[in-house]
Amino acid sequence: MKSSTHFRTCPLCEAMCGLEVQVTDGRVTRIRGDREDVWSKGYLCPKGTALGALHHDPDRIRVPMIRTGDQWEEVDWATAFAKCDELIAGVIERHSKDAISCYIGNPTAHNFSLGRYVGLFIGLSQLPVVYSAGTVDQWPKNLTSALLYGGMWSIPTPDVPRTDYWIVMGGNPQASQGSLLACADILGELDGIKARGGKVVVIDPRRTGTADRADEWIPIVPGTDAAFLMAMVNVLFEEDLVQLGDVADLIDGVDAVRAAAADFSPEHVEQTTRIPADVIRRITREFASTPRAALYGRIGTCNQEFGTLASWLVDVVNILTGHFDTPGGIMFGKPIAWGVGSLPNPELADGVQLGKWKSRVRGIPEVLGQVPVSCMAEEIDTPGPGQIKALITIAGNPVISAPGAARLDAALDELECMISLDNALNETTRHAHVLLPGLSALEQPHFDDLIPMWQVRSAARFTDVIFDAGDRPAEWEILTRLGAMCAGMRDADIDVAMLDDGFFGALAEAQGVEPSVALAGSPGIGPLRLLDLQIRTGPWGDRYGDVPDGLSLQSFRDAPHGIDQGPMVPRVREILATPDGRIDLAPAIVLADLPRLAARVERTEDGLVLTSRRHLRSNNSWMHNVSILVKGKDRCTLLIHPDDATAAGVTHGDLARVSSEAGTVEIAVEVSDEMMPGVVSLPHGWGHDKAGTRMSVAREHAGVNNNLLAPVDFYDPLSNNAAVNGIPVEVIPA
Ligand code: SF4
Repeated sequence: MKSSTHFRTCPLCEAMCGLEVQVTDGRVTRIRGDREDVWSKGYLCPKGTALGALHHDPDRIRVPMIRTGDQWEEVDWATAFAKCDELIAGVIERHSKDAISCYIGNPTAHNFSLGRYVGLFIGLSQLPVVYSAGTVDQWPKNLTSALLYGGMWSIPTPDVPRTDYWIVMGGNPQASQGSLLACADILGELDGIKARGGKVVVIDPRRTGTADRADEWIPIVPGTDAAFLMAMVNVLFEEDLVQLGDVADLIDGVDAVRAAAADFSPEHVEQTTRIPADVIRRITREFASTPRAALYGRIGTCNQEFGTLASWLVDVVNILTGHFDTPGGIMFGKPIAWGVGSLPNPELADGVQLGKWKSRVRGIPEVLGQVPVSCMAEEIDTPGPGQIKALITIAGNPVISAPGAARLDAALDELECMISLDNALNETTRHAHVLLPGLSALEQPHFDDLIPMWQVRSAARFTDVIFDAGDRPAEWEILTRLGAMCAGMRDADIDVAMLDDGFFGALAEAQGVEPSVALAGSPGIGPLRLLDLQIRTGPWGDRYGDVPDGLSLQSFRDAPHGIDQGPMVPRVREILATPDGRIDLAPAIVLADLPRLAARVERTEDGLVLTSRRHLRSNNSWMHNVSILVKGKDRCTLLIHPDDATAAGVTHGDLARVSSEAGTVEIAVEVSDEMMPGVVSLPHGWGHDKAGTRMSVAREHAGVNNNLLAPVDFYDPLSNNAAVNGIPVEVIPA
């Protein structure tokens, strides 16, 4: 028996837990938290223990495949790339390159080479329109960060380990471990706040697992977070609680914010938000008077019709109360290795310009280069110049995760070319003509690229491969090759190594390092070489010998349990990249959206509205083919308050029919007072009952797709982010 122990980072979520992986005779036999890990100190969740099951999953695609009709044929890589070349070149010849588009899925941000090389793919291919999961996730936060700080990924995060008062809005770290927030053992930190005499308040339509652990749960009507936050701002000015602290000299627009909030008194918004005015006043006072306090807003504050206003106001409230860029407030992470997402964006050099182009069919103006992902279906199935004829999907499953899912599912069959870079034959990739599998997490190195931008400590570890993938190409090679094909290069002429040298050299130069020095100093190719550059030119790097004792990739190879450079430090002056080097607290395009919010405050909803949710054992649609994660109690249920269940004529365990203007699903009812009255909840990421997939476990636990209920026209028009929370629905017995 041959046994070995490996230390690695879990790549599944922002907690980035350090794991100890036991391998015996070529199989993972045990995964537990690495107690010596400098960052997570032994913590892990059930998903982390499933990495072995994911790797050994017999359904995982390991060999490229070509589809003819309903039949898939396994082929070698040369044949697969030749087919991609034939398909892409054919579309370019018949329709031009403008007929090609791509969809980038959320796992890209968690993958060692996809995250680093998707930018090269976009740069090489120069596709006219790129779709991503970002517009069903965090696009409002990207927009407000670009407006306030000049960088779409410069997103301040709550300094949870040092705060004494933490408000969580629209987030459930008990299930997600934190999102746009990287903090190991987040519930342990939550308990720590309470243990040191602090307070945790959760504002959410549902009494989540996080709310259960908090001091106070305040139910709020979905989509009214911005009204609540405007009322907080109103109270701050009315009661003279504004104090800008150390960043006062950087802030403009305070008087404009004061004026904008004048009409949003707590009394005025209490009926709409269903939060009593005295509670709004008390929470505001408590927050403002606590020296170390942080307000955090996440998915529920983004995926709604006022996502930008809510996301902006989260930062405004922190800034107005002196809880910005200071320990215990919201701060910017300081990655040990700079990430590709932190590079200056030339598109933002003159500030945020919206609407540089519009979507072809609905005429929706772009925001930060993207229109709603729900546009993809109509851009495929509507004839005319610019119609999408070829689609490349990168680690994504938009048939499950995008609003208007049914139309997209049908539209994908109309494509002349669909190529999917994915490890699963799922609801989306079943439509592909060519399926190109990447490597499993255990077959590739790991070092997070984007997530440390909102990590509460500057800590990292390097993970080497555990299982040899042989001569299978890694995702970065596949992406580079596909990008070059979209640019018009033929497969036989593509020199991946040469393109990579050019990419690497340009990044080295941007960091002030002579490319020849970096090329000689960081041997190899691909993301490993790039990671060495990222560390060596990072804040603690050795700058290729200029800084004695500075860090390089080798430093991490020598430290299997990671390196920790300490907690976040104030660094807004270093980060700020707005054209005038200042923070405009009242961007005109945001203020211009306030009349829409004012109209919402005047409107009261009578019927039920739908929100989405996530479970600790689930992660979008990725993990549903792992039996140890989906076994037990059915988690894809309709949560409904007892009063609403009575009114709808359904009881616990019944099958209910849930309808919106977009569609209808039938699902088992789970009656619970964890929902506030008037709000029902479905989890997202389910609906695995489609024919032609290869996900045998997920099929047995299919659930229903909540995006069948999401209307494509229900979105935040400022950011283009989908509104999957607050959808009016009707519930009746099935
Ligand atoms: S919390 Fe779970 S899924 Fe997230 S990194 Fe840790 S083990 Fe992985």
